[in-house]
Amino acid sequence: MAKKEMVKPLLGNKSEIHHCGLQKIDVGILGTGDFARSLAARLACSGYGVIIGSRHPKRTAALFPTMNEVTSQREAIGKVNIIFVAVNHEHYSTLNELRDVLAGKILVDVSNNMKINVCEESNAEHLATMFPECTVVKAFNVISAWALQFGARDGIKRVLICSDSHEAKCVVTEMARNMGFIPVDMGSLSAAKEIENLPLRLFPSWKIPVLISLGLFVFFYIYNFIISVIHPYVVKGQNRFYKIPVELVNVTLPCVAFVMLSLVYLPGVLAAIFQLHNGTKYKRFPGWLDQWLQQRKQLGLLSFFCAILHTIYSLCLPMRRSARYELLNEAFNQVKNGKENAWVEEEVWRMEIYLSFGILAIGMLSLLAVTSLPSVAGSMNWREFSFIQSGFGSAALVISTLHTLTFGWAKAFNSAQYKFYLPPTFTIALIIPCMVLLAKVYLFLPFVNRKLTRIRRGWEVNRQVKFCKGGDASQFSDYQAENTSIV
Ligand code: NAP
Repeated sequence: MAKKEMVKPLLGNKSEIHHCGLQKIDVGILGTGDFARSLAARLACSGYGVIIGSRHPKRTAALFPTMNEVTSQREAIGKVNIIFVAVNHEHYSTLNELRDVLAGKILVDVSNNMKINVCEESNAEHLATMFPECTVVKAFNVISAWALQFGARDGIKRVLICSDSHEAKCVVTEMARNMGFIPVDMGSLSAAKEIENLPLRLFPSWKIPVLISLGLFVFFYIYNFIISVIHPYVVKGQNRFYKIPVELVNVTLPCVAFVMLSLVYLPGVLAAIFQLHNGTKYKRFPGWLDQWLQQRKQLGLLSFFCAILHTIYSLCLPMRRSARYELLNEAFNQVKNGKENAWVEEEVWRMEIYLSFGILAIGMLSLLAVTSLPSVAGSMNWREFSFIQSGFGSAALVISTLHTLTFGWAKAFNSAQYKFYLPPTFTIALIIPCMVLLAKVYLFLPFVNRKLTRIRRGWEVNRQVKFCKGGDASQFSDYQAENTSIV
């Protein structure tokens, strides 16, 4: 390229900017609060002229950079066609006196509520009812004032937009894109309520998985406490309370991780059994199973979280002073008993295999967790995703089961391990995973798998073609079809 060409700016003059769609238009903002200030800065950076409408322009002008014009609400509205209403919803009634100048303008409602479903009508619909001569667009409420200023640097955010006017929605969509956000069309203004509720929700899809993992943790922790602390104290008068902060947590976490992992695969097994039982895939699953199927990702991530914690706790076990004392005492006892070699070949092998399975299981769980990230999942096709999540996930469950079995196999057959007649913890933890694995093996049997595959391809047991003899040979009946509810 010639040197002359290289020094030329990429966008030469105003008309070229216009051609690239970076059209400079003036927009208005009502309000001078946190949101209005961040919005003004972001709009100005994105090439828009910003006019701020304030009740006290003289007092608030100093809050904005000089490139922003701060004037009265009435004057600001008069100069622009698009107005962001950065005023709290409770104060919308004060805008009534501006009705005449607002007529025919696009109002962008950015408001949020303090509580979910606080009013029957959404704020945007309320604004549209107040000003029927305006076009209302709901947008930007899911973006915080902070994200408006720094969002572009910290990662792009989605802006949900809805309106009853297609044209107005297109204008705001284009603005959001120019400001560095990803606009998402949510349809008509009736979607505003859902959009307004979004910033107020607190991990809605995590509630049940978190409660399940907490419940499992409490159950296994108490179980381990009875076996490992209460039993030695009651039976032998030994003080084992030092185990409470680390050792008990460390034996509880893998049980929770293991059961949670099996709970990821149990609903899939139940769904297959339902389909086999109903002889169709078109019958709706019960609500609880539907919900369970949708929360498998959260269950899996919580399982991974517990497994990681278990790994860290396990690595730290030898650092504890109690572990050092126990080791020294054991060594001392050995010397006292004249025992020179403590090596037990079976124990050594069991430990090596047990650790290896544990490392493999945590590696597989890490891969499952990484591939559940939307950006990674989005880069895979459906077959790749289901291969990892289903095939690899089942393999992780098998490896985790082997890890647990090699850890406790000998203990299961040792009556001394049954404290207060309670079986060792790992045997309890094995129940659901083993049931899931056995059910998976059953579903994998050729005659079961064939039937399930046919059902999943649309075949229905009650809608078979029935051939008749003689003159009726060409007839067939969809017998009992009315009994099959098609979703
Ligand atoms: P704010 O700091 O309380 O500012 C509200 C502004 O409204 C005031 O500065 C005031 O400006 C103006 N206003 C007009 N009439 C008013 C009246 N009668 N009484 C009081 N103030 C009146 O609120 P904000 O945090 O900027 O939020 C503004 C809107 O954006 C809200 O609807 C909020 O839900 C929404 N929002 C905020 C955020 C956020 O991160 N802050 C995020 C998403 C959405 P003048 O005195 O200059 O007229």
